[in-house]
Amino acid sequence: MPPKSPVLPRTKAAPSSGQVWLVTVGDELLAGDIHDTNSTFLAQQCRAIGATVIRTVSVRDRIDEIAEVLREAASRGVCACLVSGGLGPTTDDLTTEAIAVAAGVEVRRDAAALERLEAKFRAFGYDNMPLSNIKQADFPQGAEILANPIGSAEGFMVRIDGCRVFSMPGVPRELRKMTTEQVLPRLVEAWALREVPRRIYRVLGHGESAVAQRIEGIVASARTQSPGLATMFVHYRAATPQVSIILEGVAADSEPDAKGATADELASLDAAMIDALQPGIYGIGEADLATRVVGAASAAGVSLVVAESCTGGGLGAALSAVPGASACFVGGVVGYNNRIKVELLGVPQSVLDEHGAVSEPVARAMAKGGCVATGADLCVAITGIAGPGGGTPEKPVGTVDVAVSDGSETTYKRLKIRGDRATVQRASAQWALKLVWDRLVAKGVASIVSLP
Ligand code: ATP
Repeated sequence: MPPKSPVLPRTKAAPSSGQVWLVTVGDELLAGDIHDTNSTFLAQQCRAIGATVIRTVSVRDRIDEIAEVLREAASRGVCACLVSGGLGPTTDDLTTEAIAVAAGVEVRRDAAALERLEAKFRAFGYDNMPLSNIKQADFPQGAEILANPIGSAEGFMVRIDGCRVFSMPGVPRELRKMTTEQVLPRLVEAWALREVPRRIYRVLGHGESAVAQRIEGIVASARTQSPGLATMFVHYRAATPQVSIILEGVAADSEPDAKGATADELASLDAAMIDALQPGIYGIGEADLATRVVGAASAAGVSLVVAESCTGGGLGAALSAVPGASACFVGGVVGYNNRIKVELLGVPQSVLDEHGAVSEPVARAMAKGGCVATGADLCVAITGIAGPGGGTPEKPVGTVDVAVSDGSETTYKRLKIRGDRATVQRASAQWALKLVWDRLVAKGVASIVSLP
């Protein structure tokens, strides 16, 4: 007979300060109809204030299933559950009742909340509030109501034993506002949490294990420098062709009395990290590559155009996604067909015939031609084979040529990207941005500074 697995005791654990469960409610999440972006947002926000998310759970719109999760969290000594969804007016919105069941209290209508709700509907332009919305003025008895100035569903907080349960609407815009304005301040106050310092080193062009190897010695020696650095966390985030190294000044769970590294202690590693991560490193901090390129080019008055083939506008989209991009981004040409490369970018037909559309001479001619045609300071060109078809033994799928020109001097790089069409397109655009970044660095108008 197989040995019996041990039975876990169901005793109430002492609340462990700062430990959080995220509970996202909705059949649409479990059916795979929508991405659970609320969990991602909530996890990021918790991390920033020093709270530790130890579990994320998605549950269906069922009273017993929601209540069971919350009771379990409370019995395990979790300090807070942040619950998203199920506060709407329809019959499948059951979170309020479920939380009341878990807390062992009644659901009560709140007269003041009902007045606020009716006023909102008048402001939305309704003569009468739909009857179904009345239930949005119902809360578990004893709940503290959390305002929702941009939607109909107010949130609330109740305690189940030592666990604070915050219930918020599922609509991301409403949840975000309620989290930052109502929930986080309450958590910070309750637990005296401190923001966890972190330092992100952004690298393009070295693989994850190569990056880890390059900084191994720095991390090992840093751990001997101070008690804070001794316990810092080192995370790697890879998204082809980029790797970010995140140093976090949080003490390991196994070191309950350690304080974690300070922001200054982490920053003291900059010089060594930059040195070890050349030439791939382009920045320190939250700002991504496109944001840095736009920031540096705008500040220096450098205008940018794009001449794209296999990315079909993806590079232009990455640049224009940065707020304020118009200060440097002029526009571009999607020369998907060779006729456009010839007619709009001035690529000689003979060069196309001799070398093929995916070739160094064509990439260089596109970049130079884009500069000449638009008068921009820099033009960045991309031509390649995104796949899944179109590859040859000499130029397999993922072969991409990128070039940057100021009209006279042109820099060039051949890429060999592994992955599906979307990966090749995304990675090509990122590499092209890195080439622009390197040109801006060479011009002396960009540097690896720390940006928020
Ligand atoms: P409503 O008043 O719209 O009914 P609600 O609080 O009941 O709000 P839900 O019905 O659960 O929230 O979700 C409303 C919408 O918010 C969903 O259709 C979905 O588009 C989005 N949403 C819900 N949960 C999530 C989640 N975890 N991540 C991202 N989006 C979500």
